[in-house]
Amino acid sequence: MDSIRACQQALQTGQVSAVELTQGYLERLQQREPQVHSFLTVLPERALARAAAVDQRRAAGETLGPLAGIPIAIKDNLCMEGVKTTCGSRMLADWVSPYTATAVANLERAGAVVLGKTNLDEFAMGSSTENSAFGPTYNPWQRHRVPGGSSGGSAAAVAARQCVAALGSDTGGSIRQPAAFCGTVGLKPTYGLISRYGLVAFASSLDQVGPLANSVEDVALLLQVLAGPDRQDATSLQVDIPDYGAAVAPEHTESLKGKRVGIVRETFGEGLDPEVAALVQGAIAQLQELGAAVQEISCPRFRYGLPTYYILAPSEASANLARYDGVKYGYRAPAPNLLGMYEQTREGGFGPEVKRRIAIGTYVLSSGYYDAYYLKAQKVRALIREDFDRAFAQVDVLVCPTSPVTAFALGSKTEDPLSMYLTDLMTIPVNLAGLPGLSLPCGFDRQGLPVGLQLIANVLQEATLLQVARAYERSTPWHERQPTGWV
Ligand code: GLN
Repeated sequence: MDSIRACQQALQTGQVSAVELTQGYLERLQQREPQVHSFLTVLPERALARAAAVDQRRAAGETLGPLAGIPIAIKDNLCMEGVKTTCGSRMLADWVSPYTATAVANLERAGAVVLGKTNLDEFAMGSSTENSAFGPTYNPWQRHRVPGGSSGGSAAAVAARQCVAALGSDTGGSIRQPAAFCGTVGLKPTYGLISRYGLVAFASSLDQVGPLANSVEDVALLLQVLAGPDRQDATSLQVDIPDYGAAVAPEHTESLKGKRVGIVRETFGEGLDPEVAALVQGAIAQLQELGAAVQEISCPRFRYGLPTYYILAPSEASANLARYDGVKYGYRAPAPNLLGMYEQTREGGFGPEVKRRIAIGTYVLSSGYYDAYYLKAQKVRALIREDFDRAFAQVDVLVCPTSPVTAFALGSKTEDPLSMYLTDLMTIPVNLAGLPGLSLPCGFDRQGLPVGLQLIANVLQEATLLQVARAYERSTPWHERQPTGWV
């Protein structure tokens, strides 16, 4: 029972109660937790109480929400009232949120049962979940490897079947890259489609909340519940939400006739693992087999995405993280005077990667450098968006690898931030342009590690994205494989 639909059926037919389902998942969660460490907080009592409420409402004949009784997990940078939100940081190690993020509230309103909060790179800065102040998460496929990041806890929890689905956040690839490394499906929606209210800010013009699950169908169901305008988020889009379930329905996903697919030529260059390249090429051949018209598309400015991102994201981070000063909330270092308190709080509360980002951001925003770096990066960002506009005048969906490599060994890139940053080469341009991107499994390399296929669509074309992804998924066996060897 690893899919939302399977759970729903079992719940509706009375084969299992919501309490039993939650209990079963909590047991597996705890059993596998020492091997993956995907959770920072587990909420057994809260979850069981919610599940009991679902059972009661069902018994009373009430109409239940579309996710009634479905066990899910939440990345620990999304607030939940009365629950700790640590952001994987010492700075917020004991901080309890006074309110609930809209995305979480939407899931709970639909009946979802939150099992706990998942591990992440500190403040979502990273690509391996090794930057968590509370220790890394291990890849469920091979425990000496990273799960990707920053939503590594969410991706690992979904892959390890510790929950049915999870929420992540994606600023430069943090949903899609871990989804690829863990062999799950992950969607970063159009900027503004899901409210960011209650998502602890990293780089506000890039951050998006999104779902991870074991199938495209589940991701579509979750998006249906998550998407929509929110008065609490000024960047939330005032748009009508289409029927994503229809987009992935059998009658729309048998064939891809009439769909135009573009291969992003620039992503097949230097640095791409040949095995990843071969599997992604195989996936493209499969899309063609399904009837899609495939052509190569050039996005020449794609390669400037990474340097642009590493100017803009740290700039926004340096501003957003100024609030952690020991005065308002969170960690406070003991010190004899105010300035010392500020300094020691920030020195002791943040880990090295966060400090690096704050330093870079502060530097590029300083007077004299602002025009040369920040302003220029904003201009390049506009050019990258132009490349996409041109591409989407010709095709409906773009394809490329999600990451140039598969899951690497823990510790193998920690000394070299640049090589770590490179794993997000193919996901970052999508955030810079505010577009929806989805990663789904497209095979396994010779070492048995999952490889992710990234599909990108134009603004608000999630339905198309899901449709193409589901057509591919239906015709391939990859999503059925599960990590094994649990003790
Ligand atoms: N890995 C990228 C970074 O370190 C992206 C992180 C994210 O999407 N939150 O910034």
